[in-house]
Amino acid sequence: IIIVMSAVILSACTGIPKSSIVETDEQIETILSKLTLQEKAGQLNLIPIEGEPTEAHLKMIREGKVGSVLKVNGVENITKLQKIAVNESKSGIPILFQEDVIHGYKTIAPIPIAEAASWDLEAIRKSSAVAAREAAVSGISLTYAPMVDISRDPRWGRLLEAAGEDPYLGSLVAAARVKGLQESNENGKNILSCVKHFAGYGASLAGRDYNIQDFSERELRETYLPPFQAAIDAGVASLMCAYSAYDGEPLTANQFLMQDVLRDEMGFKGLAMTDWETIKNLVKTGVAENDTIATINAMDAGIDMDMNSEKFVSLLPVLVETGKISIEQVDNAVRRVLILKKKAGLLTDPFANLNIEEEKKELLSERNIAETKDIALKSMVLLKNNKHVLPISSNVKNIAVIGPMAKATKDLLGWWHCKGNENDVVTYFEGISKKFENAKITYAKGCDIDSFKIAGKDLIPKAVKTAQIADVVILVLGEEYWMSGEGGGTASLHLPGAQEELFEAIAKTGKPIITVINAGRPYILTNIDAKSDAVLYAWMPGTTGGTALAEILSGEFNPQGKTPMTFPYHEGQIPIFYNYRRTSHRFVPGLTDNRYSTTYRDVQNEPLYPFGYGLSYTSYDYSDIELNSKEMTENGSITATVKISNTGKVKGTEVVQLYIGDKVCSVTRPEKELKDFTLVEIEPGETKAVSFEITPDKLMFIGKGKAYKKTIEKGEFNLFIGKNANELKQTTFILK
Ligand code: BGC
Repeated sequence: IIIVMSAVILSACTGIPKSSIVETDEQIETILSKLTLQEKAGQLNLIPIEGEPTEAHLKMIREGKVGSVLKVNGVENITKLQKIAVNESKSGIPILFQEDVIHGYKTIAPIPIAEAASWDLEAIRKSSAVAAREAAVSGISLTYAPMVDISRDPRWGRLLEAAGEDPYLGSLVAAARVKGLQESNENGKNILSCVKHFAGYGASLAGRDYNIQDFSERELRETYLPPFQAAIDAGVASLMCAYSAYDGEPLTANQFLMQDVLRDEMGFKGLAMTDWETIKNLVKTGVAENDTIATINAMDAGIDMDMNSEKFVSLLPVLVETGKISIEQVDNAVRRVLILKKKAGLLTDPFANLNIEEEKKELLSERNIAETKDIALKSMVLLKNNKHVLPISSNVKNIAVIGPMAKATKDLLGWWHCKGNENDVVTYFEGISKKFENAKITYAKGCDIDSFKIAGKDLIPKAVKTAQIADVVILVLGEEYWMSGEGGGTASLHLPGAQEELFEAIAKTGKPIITVINAGRPYILTNIDAKSDAVLYAWMPGTTGGTALAEILSGEFNPQGKTPMTFPYHEGQIPIFYNYRRTSHRFVPGLTDNRYSTTYRDVQNEPLYPFGYGLSYTSYDYSDIELNSKEMTENGSITATVKISNTGKVKGTEVVQLYIGDKVCSVTRPEKELKDFTLVEIEPGETKAVSFEITPDKLMFIGKGKAYKKTIEKGEFNLFIGKNANELKQTTFILK
C-alpha cells in the first residue's frame, strides 16, 4: 500500500519552505525507523568500485556506509559484494548496483543518436529492452540512461548519447527508451532508468564538454525541458543533474530547477542524484567555500544521492546533529533510495537476479542480436545515391573495401560500450565479404585516422592501386570510438587524420565511390558528398554493424533512416538547426538579393543535409495536403491528409513528417516545428493516405512575459507535411 506523504521541508540554509512529495509505505517506514543517522547517510552514498574491491571498500559496506555501487559488473562480482551488504552489515539493506548501460550491455546497439535517426519508436523501445534484459540478468538494477540532452552543436562529443536537435523527436525517443528499460521482461525482471543530465548540458558553449551554458528561461522551457517531462510522464524512476550551471547556479545546488521546476512543476517524484563528484565540484567552481557548505547546498536543492563525492556519508550526520540540515530532508532522500530498491525487487530477494547460468543464456542471445541488427538497419541514413550506384548489383566482380574504418571493431561500438567486446563485432569488411561472396573483395587501409599519428607514407598509393582494379569502391571513413563521447569535443569537423587526402586520391581514380561514414556526430561532408556516388551514414552501429551495412549495400534492406540533426555545410554555421526563431532579416531561399539577411557572405546559408533528411532505394511522391476543415477551435481538432505514392521499384518505409508554424504570435517563434511523424511502408506502385490529427496542444507555446505559461493564440497557422524539414507540402488553417 503506497501512502503518499507530503512533507514540508524547511531549508536550513535559506529558510525558504520547500514542499516535496515522497512516496513511501509501511515496509519502507519500518526499515527507516531502524536506521541510525550514519546508516541513513550511507544509503545516500553511491561509490564506484573499479576492479577488485579494496579492504576499505569492504569495510565501508560492512559499516552500512554504501547504499549503491557503480562500475562493478557481472553476477560473480556483484554477488560477492551483495552478500557482504546483506549478511554482514547491521541493517542488511542490499546495495543497488548501477551502471552506464547506454545502448547495450553486452550486445551493443547503435549509439543513441543513430537510433534516433530511425525515428522508429518501437524499434528504439525494443533496443532499450535488450539492454535492460542483459543488464538485469547481470545484476544491474539501474542504468544512467536515457540521456535526453538536446544538442545543436556537432562539436560536442556527447551528442551521440542523445536524440539530436529537436525537442519533439527528443521527447518521444526519451519516452520510448524509459519504457524499454523499465518494462518487465518475461521473467518479471527489469531495470530502473535514470534520465540525465538535468538540464541544458547539451548547450555547452562552443561544443566543449563540461563548459558553461547560458540561455534564456524561455529556451530552457521550450527546448531543454520537454524530453525530461516526457521521461517523467513515462514513469522514469530517477534523474541525474548536470555538471553544468543554469543561470549561474550549478544544477547540484540549483533550488529553482531541482525543486521548483523539477518537483513542483514537472511533478517528478523519483530520486535525484548528482553526476560524478558534483558536490565536491561546487567548491571547485567557487560557489561553495568548503565541502560542508557544498553538502548543505546540495541537500537544500533536493539532491538525494551523492555520486562519488562521499560528502553525504561523511558530513550529513554532523550537519543534522548541529541543525544545519533537518532530519526530514535526510529521511525523504532515504525513502527515495528505498523506493528504488523496492522497485528493483531488492527488498524481496536481493539475489533473485544473480544466476550465472541465466546470465550466460541472455548475453548475446540470438534474439538480442536480431533485435539489435534490426535497429542498426533502420538507423543508417542514405545521404546520396547518384545514378543508383546503390544497391550494389550481385553481378559485380571486384569490390575494393578501403579505409581506416573498414576493419575497425571497437569503433563501431562507440564510447559507452559497457561490457561490449570488440571481438564480438562484425566489421564492415566481414559483413561485405560474406554478403558478396561471388565477388572478389580487396582491402586497403588507406591511411591512419588518429590525427596525432603521421599518415603511413605508402598507405594512400597502395589504396589507389586497390581502387584502380575494382569495379566499385566502398570507402569506409569516420572516427575512432574515443573521438566522440564524454569529454570528446572537436574543433574541426573535417574527418580526422589523412582521410580527406585519401578520399581525394581515390576520387581521382574515377571509380564509382560509395562512402560509408562511421561516426558519432555529423561531420562536414561537403566535398565528400560532391565527389562520391553514394554516401551512407552508418553512425557507430554496434555489434552487428557490418552485417547491417552489407544488407543495405546489397539492397536486402531498403534504407529508411533520417537525420535527427542538421548536417552543416561548413563548420562556421554551427550552431545550425532547423527550428531557430524567426528574425526580421531572415534568409529567404530563392530570393536573388539576400545581402541584408542573416546569411553568411562566403558560404551558402543552407546546411548540407537538413533535419529529417534521408534517401531510400525508392522514391516517394507527396500529394498536396487536404484538410477536413480549414478552421479549428480551441477545443476541437482537424485532420490533415496526404497521399504518398511509391514511384520506384522496391518496397520502402517512409518517415512522414508534420511541421506547424504560427504565422503571427506574441513572441518570436520558429517558422516551423516538428509536431508529428509516422512511418509508413509502401509497396512499389502503391499509394497510401496518411492522416494526422492536429490538436490544440500542437499549437501551444510559451507565451509572452516572465510567467512562462503555455498558451495558444488564435489566428492563421502554416502546416507542412513532407520528407524532411526542407522538402514540404504546405497549407494553412485558422484557429478561431
Ligand atoms: C557522466 C554521466 C555518467 C557518470 C557515471 C559522468 O561523468 O557525465 O553521464 O553516467 O559519469 O559514469
